[in-house]
Amino acid sequence: MIARVLSDAEDHPDVEKLYERAAAIDPGISIATVYRTVRLFEEAGILDRHDFGDGRARYEPAPEAHHDHLIDVETGNVIEFVDPELEQLQKLIAERLGFRLVDHRMELYGVALDRKG
Ligand SMILES: [Zn+2]
Repeated sequence: MIARVLSDAEDHPDVEKLYERAAAIDPGISIATVYRTVRLFEEAGILDRHDFGDGRARYEPAPEAHHDHLIDVETGNVIEFVDPELEQLQKLIAERLGFRLVDHRMELYGVALDRKG
């Protein structure tokens, strides 16, 4: 059930949000169960954990295709993106430093340009 809640989520929820959604389906579930299950999924590689700088661990199903994240620092909203030039540049940087790139995390933090007030 927690796996279903996670795969339905499109907003990189934290454990509190996962718990709220799971409890809406099964009111008997405890937050300890959600924490434990999330940890197991993470260890199994089913789930990716992110720390987007506000101290809350946020989760998403491990993506089939690579993507990076832009985090709206005012709302906590997360936008997924892929930029081929950026991907290539990261490979080149690693090569210049004498490495073959095997993984990376790219997180951009921003404030919406059109937000008022
Ligand atoms: Zn990337």
